[in-house]
Amino acid sequence: MTKPNGNADLLQPKPRISSPDVLAAEIIEHLTYGIGKDAKVATPHDWLTATILAIRGRIIDKWMESTREAYRTNGKRVYYLSLEFLIGRLMRDAVSNLGLMDEVRQALVSLGVDLDVIAELEPDAALGNGGLGRLAACFMESMATVGIPAYGYGIRYVHGLFRQQMADGWQVELPETWLAHGNPWEFERRESSYEIGFGGAVETNGGLDEPRRYIWKPAERVIATGYDTPVVGWRGARVNTLRLWSAQPIDPILLAAFNAGDHIGALRESNKAETLTRVLYPADATPAGQELRLRQEYFFCSASLQDILRRHLQQGNSLASLPDKVAIQLNDTHPAVSVVELMRLLCDMHGLDFDQAWDITWRTFSYTNHTLLPEALESWPVPLFERLLPRHMQLVYEINAKVLLDARRSRHFGDQEIAHISLIEESGSRRVRMGNLAFMGSHSVNGVSALHTELMKQTVFADLHKLYPDRINNKTNGITPRRWLMQCNPGLTGLVTEAIGPDFKDDVEKLRPLDAFADDPAFREKFAAIKRANKERLSNLVLSRMGVRIDPSALFDIQIKRIHEYKRQLLNIIEAISLYDQIRSHPERDWVPRVKLLAGKAAPSYHNAKLIIKLANDVARVINNDPSVRGLLKVVFIPNYNVSLAEIMVPAADLSEQISTAGMEASGTGNMKFALNGALTIGTLDGANVEMLEHVGEENIVIFGMTADEVAAARSDGHNPRAIIESSPELAQALSAISAGVFSPDDRDRFSGLVDGLYQHDWFMVAADFDAYARAQRQVDAIWTDPSAWYAKTIRNTARMGWFSSDRTIRQYAADIWRA
Ligand SMILES: *Cc1c(COP(=O)(O)O)cnc(C)c1O
Repeated sequence: MTKPNGNADLLQPKPRISSPDVLAAEIIEHLTYGIGKDAKVATPHDWLTATILAIRGRIIDKWMESTREAYRTNGKRVYYLSLEFLIGRLMRDAVSNLGLMDEVRQALVSLGVDLDVIAELEPDAALGNGGLGRLAACFMESMATVGIPAYGYGIRYVHGLFRQQMADGWQVELPETWLAHGNPWEFERRESSYEIGFGGAVETNGGLDEPRRYIWKPAERVIATGYDTPVVGWRGARVNTLRLWSAQPIDPILLAAFNAGDHIGALRESNKAETLTRVLYPADATPAGQELRLRQEYFFCSASLQDILRRHLQQGNSLASLPDKVAIQLNDTHPAVSVVELMRLLCDMHGLDFDQAWDITWRTFSYTNHTLLPEALESWPVPLFERLLPRHMQLVYEINAKVLLDARRSRHFGDQEIAHISLIEESGSRRVRMGNLAFMGSHSVNGVSALHTELMKQTVFADLHKLYPDRINNKTNGITPRRWLMQCNPGLTGLVTEAIGPDFKDDVEKLRPLDAFADDPAFREKFAAIKRANKERLSNLVLSRMGVRIDPSALFDIQIKRIHEYKRQLLNIIEAISLYDQIRSHPERDWVPRVKLLAGKAAPSYHNAKLIIKLANDVARVINNDPSVRGLLKVVFIPNYNVSLAEIMVPAADLSEQISTAGMEASGTGNMKFALNGALTIGTLDGANVEMLEHVGEENIVIFGMTADEVAAARSDGHNPRAIIESSPELAQALSAISAGVFSPDDRDRFSGLVDGLYQHDWFMVAADFDAYARAQRQVDAIWTDPSAWYAKTIRNTARMGWFSSDRTIRQYAADIWRA
């Protein structure tokens, strides 16, 4: 590097002061000279951009410090590869983690601007579908907090997850345009650009007396350009980088085409490149199964691997030291093609032999599994993989041969087991199994809750686990307490600080002393008052957005998550119908007033999930307009669930619905957000609910329903849902109301498919668990009628949920997997 020989003082920026007046002056500076607007005519968006730019300046100082330090110490860096980052809004996160909330607020007040008003205008970056993407976002924040030098790598989708609208109760998908007003957080890094190839052929040279070399000649190439977003840790401890790749056409080709007068051809090339990073696949638990998706995966993996190797070598490190200096975490199988890409780079570009390269590769990678659902395990048809990535296909065969030879040599594996381990699915059409590839190519394979990890060993990876018994380990998911307590619930944060001091802000496990306050009536009153205020805020949102009035003194029962049959929103809705029947049949009883709130998006191609949304809306319309219910029950489906909506709904919940079919939810993180914010959980023994039970104590959570073992047994032995339904009068009555068209008089058969599914196979055990669920709900009612008991339990939830911090999860990854 050449040294600029200027004045050293001028080359180093002066440390910034963050008093309100200095901040205000800087905001005006950005507004005037950055955006070119006079304060008198500036729009709220202009103020937002100017404010972000002023905050960003303070982050950059720390960012450069963090980068310089990582370079100086040349320690291990962690790379988190994820096709999804569900980061949501960033301004409040950044300001709060920098400790500048009061200063920024005052600065804006002096300029006549309300922080809360402009904060609402920031787009919610939804570059993910649900839990998996949100986990990646929580991990980025925790890695910066815990002090791990880390990069997140993903795709800069022009359109994130679709915006959900309701049309007559049906989900309608609209494009989300989060970049419409520009993105002041990001920096385009033209210098961090890489060529990514697709298709073409593989040539060989070398021969008898020299090693054979493979040269991939792709038919198409695009450029990947990095866009960096800084991620600030708590108290500005560290600033890490989220680098998202955007696809662009290669200029020389374009130029040549233009010169030849082929303007249409040039445009086509340009469109094709840009299509790569245009949309996030709105698939959640099922593979999109489309070529474009495989292209996206390879595109971002290749760019990331090239970037990682460049940084590693630029520091003067050898390739052999890669596993000591670099840890690459694969968030599910979406980035699994990275394993083969690293092999290609090491063998073909750097001349290592296959065995050397393989040793470096598996010691560098680790893989997180997120699902056991067979239909969600990624695999690609061999012909497609071969056509798009011919050199990678060769390497897949070579890796497979090596591993299968190991397995045969050990003599513990029969043909059946060898077939399960193979990278190639041979039954039916031949496919490349990405889960097996990620497993073989990693030194660590982790599940995301204790139960899920055990099931992984018994089911999907039973044979690979036998071959590599030390590989599978558990890292129970977590959530960042900064966003999911301190920012989303300032009232509770203030109350807790008043009671036990501020130590929990630096270590959320120090919430534990709050436990003693569960028995303090005065504290319970204050805790209840904060919950009440959060419920009033949500009630106002429901009234203004939907025109529905809900009573903040009712029990707020909330289920928000992706709509999926295994998550069983249907169970919740059927229980609402049953409750509705009973309130009308027994008006003399003391019913607990309840508002059931739901929100969530369905994958656009997922027919039953969309039908469940329509059912929720149809049921809501009937119940909410029936005067005989006397307001004792309301059902509300709030459209367009995203991180920002979660930040308002979570603190307002009394009851958290975590009712998936046991054995099907890998972990869940929504469950953690609610309990931390003082909600009681009604849930099954599934995912992290099992560990929540251990932490909060069985008297502070309401558990019901079949266990994972019982579900597996019922499925394999065959169970009789019709007999179950006929033996439950309440369930039978609710189902016949649906079938009779009580909620769909305009189309009586609308929901017959859903109801028939319950009678015929009830794969998700909705009927099988119904009575236990309804009983558990009446148990919740009983607790609610004794407010001191209710708040004692919910306070203990807040006090005992500290372990579910993503800081704890990240420390475990760092100690056991990354050794960073
Ligand atoms: C936390 C979160 C999720 C995950 O919720 P689960 O209940 O664990 O499925 C999904 N989407 C958003 C926006 C979230 O904040």
